[in-house]
Amino acid sequence: MDHYICTGTCGAVSSEPGLCQNRECPNYGQQLTVCSCTDDRHGMSRNDEEYRKLDEEEEL
Ligand SMILES: [Zn+2]
Ligand SMILES: [Zn+2]
Repeated sequence: MDHYICTGTCGAVSSEPGLCQNRECPNYGQQLTVCSCTDDRHGMSRNDEEYRKLDEEEEL
């Protein structure tokens, strides 16, 4: 199901279109970006490697 995310640092997620509401976020007042991910990572690869490392460490 599509949802809307802030691409700034606040990590806001909304089920409806809107604006970033976090004044400390660099994207404050900017439109949220539509996202259709199903894994709650919102298509961001920034943390993928860290997640993978954690997963591997847990398995070991
Ligand atoms: Zn934001
Ligand atoms: Zn998403």
